[in-house]
Amino acid sequence: MQHPSHLQGISLVSLAEEFGTPLYIYDGEKIFNQVKSLQNAFSAAPLKIKYATKALSNISVLKLIKKAGAGVDAVSIEEVRLGLMAGFIADEIMYTPSGVSFDEILQAVDLGVMVNLDSIPLMVRFGETFGGKVPACIRINPHIMAGGNYKISVGHKESKFGISIEQLPQILKVVKTYNLSIVGLHIHTGSDILDAEVFLKGGNVLFEAALQFPDLKFLDFGGGFKVAYKPGDIATDIQVVGQAVGEAFQAFCEKYGRQLELWLEPGKYLVSESGYLVVKTTVVKETPTVTFVGVDSGLNHLIRPMMYDAYHDVYNVSNPGGPIKEYTIVGYICETDTIASKRQLPEIHEDDFLVIKNAGAYGYSMSSNYNSRIRPAEVLIWEGKAHLIRRREEFEDLVRHQIEVDF
Ligand SMILES: *Cc1c(COP(=O)(O)O)cnc(C)c1O
Repeated sequence: MQHPSHLQGISLVSLAEEFGTPLYIYDGEKIFNQVKSLQNAFSAAPLKIKYATKALSNISVLKLIKKAGAGVDAVSIEEVRLGLMAGFIADEIMYTPSGVSFDEILQAVDLGVMVNLDSIPLMVRFGETFGGKVPACIRINPHIMAGGNYKISVGHKESKFGISIEQLPQILKVVKTYNLSIVGLHIHTGSDILDAEVFLKGGNVLFEAALQFPDLKFLDFGGGFKVAYKPGDIATDIQVVGQAVGEAFQAFCEKYGRQLELWLEPGKYLVSESGYLVVKTTVVKETPTVTFVGVDSGLNHLIRPMMYDAYHDVYNVSNPGGPIKEYTIVGYICETDTIASKRQLPEIHEDDFLVIKNAGAYGYSMSSNYNSRIRPAEVLIWEGKAHLIRRREEFEDLVRHQIEVDF
C-alpha cells in the first residue's frame, strides 16, 4: 500500500503544522475519481448514484459529489437539509430513514424529496395522508446475510431495516388500499460486501418483486462496496460487479417491458480512501510486553477500530525511513482506545506525525465530544489547493448549549 507524504503536491506534514492536529484531510481528486469509476463500471445501464451522506457529510464534500455528477441519499431530515444546502435539488435527494417520526416524513415530502418507506405501518400512514399523490419508494429486506461484520449487516432476516420480502403480499395490499404510487424498490444489505454474487442475489429479489409494481422508475441496489483497508485486502472489483449487475439489470428491464434507472448508494466506496487522519505522537511508552504510542486523538474522532474492530493502516510520515519496530497505537480517551495493534512501523518519537488511512468514511461523521474533547478541523484538497472546510472546535463549543443552574 502506498503511504503518501504528499497529496496533490501538498505535504501532509505541512498541513498538520498549518492547521494543527488531529486533522482530517480529504483528497478531493480521489472522491471525484471514485464517482467516475462507478459511472464507468455501470455504463451498461442508466445509472444514478446517490452518495450515502452519512459516510462524510461536510457540505463542501457534498458539493464535490454533485460536481462529479452524483446525487445523495439521506438518512435523517438534517442530512436532507445538508444536501439542499450543498445545492442538490430535491429530485436528486433520496430520503431513506429507519423508524423516524412521521413528522420527519412530512417535512421530507414538504421539501419535495423522495421517501423510502421502510415499514408497513409507515406505508399505511403515508397512504392515509397522501393517497397516491406523492410518489415513493419501498425498502425491501431481501433476507441476505452480507457485509464485513454483524453490526454492518442490515439486510438479513433479523435486521430492523426494510420490509421483509416475505411480507410482499401485505405490501401489495397496502399499495392497493391507498392506491400508492410506488416508483422505486430499494435494498441495502450491508457494508464491506465483496462479491458481485451478493449484489446479483439482491438484484434477483428486487427483480422478482418488481414485476408486481407496474409504475416503477428505478431499482436501488444500495451501497456497501468494499474498499481495501489492510495491505493485501481484496476490494470489490467494481468493473466486474458493474458489468454483471448492469447486464442482469438490462435483461430484467427487457422482461419488465420498460427501461428503468439503476440506482446505487455508495458511501464508503466514494470517500473512504480519500481520507487521512493526521495525529501527533504524545508519548512512547514501553511496558515489559508492548510498546504503546499515545496520540492526540482517539475513538472520539475515529471510532471504527473500537466499534467495528476495523483495521486502519497507520504510517509514520515524520520518519518513514527509520528502523522498523513493533508498536500499538492508542488514543487518549479514558477507555480502552486502541487505534492499531502490534504494527511494524518505522521508529516513532514523541511529536511525530502519524497518518491513519481510510479515514474518509465514518470518521468525522461518527466523531463525538466524549471526554469533553473538541473535534478536529477538516481540510479538502482540490486542484492542488488545500481548503479548510471545517474549523477545529473550541472549548466554547463544548459548553455552548449548556445551561448552568445556580445553587
Ligand atoms: C449506510 C448506507 C449506505 C452506504 O453504505 P456503505 O457501506 O458506506 O457503502 C447506503 N444506503 C443506505 C440506506 C445506508 O444506510
